[in-house]
Amino acid sequence: MLDKCPMTAPAARGDVVEIRAPKGARVFEVVWEHGEIARLPHALLRGFCPCAHCQGHAGPIRWTEGTEALPAEALELTDVSEVGNYAVLLTWGDGHNTGIYSFPYLARLSAIAAAPLATWRKLTFTK
Ligand SMILES: [Zn+2]
Repeated sequence: MLDKCPMTAPAARGDVVEIRAPKGARVFEVVWEHGEIARLPHALLRGFCPCAHCQGHAGPIRWTEGTEALPAEALELTDVSEVGNYAVLLTWGDGHNTGIYSFPYLARLSAIAAAPLATWRKLTFTK
């Protein structure tokens, strides 16, 4: 669970009905079943990449230090593919493609999307 998050609980958002990742954009849009559209900056998604390479095998998911300093292509999405009916696999411009983002996880990230970087750096999510 997101620590002390006062915003919309993921359960209230329902399922994902559409994902929009326009080429060249720096924001990824998730359209939820109840009509809400979440806009997730690419830096947020990359910084909280849940893969074992970025996060290790133990402990909570936390901000990957250095994300802000990645080259521009590392924050470009080159592919978004659906995994089952529950998640998306993101492929970044630098070839990183091991992060699988479940829809509930996207909802949790949505809740902090508008927060500043300083806040992102302090938050953790249980796996
Ligand atoms: Zn990763």
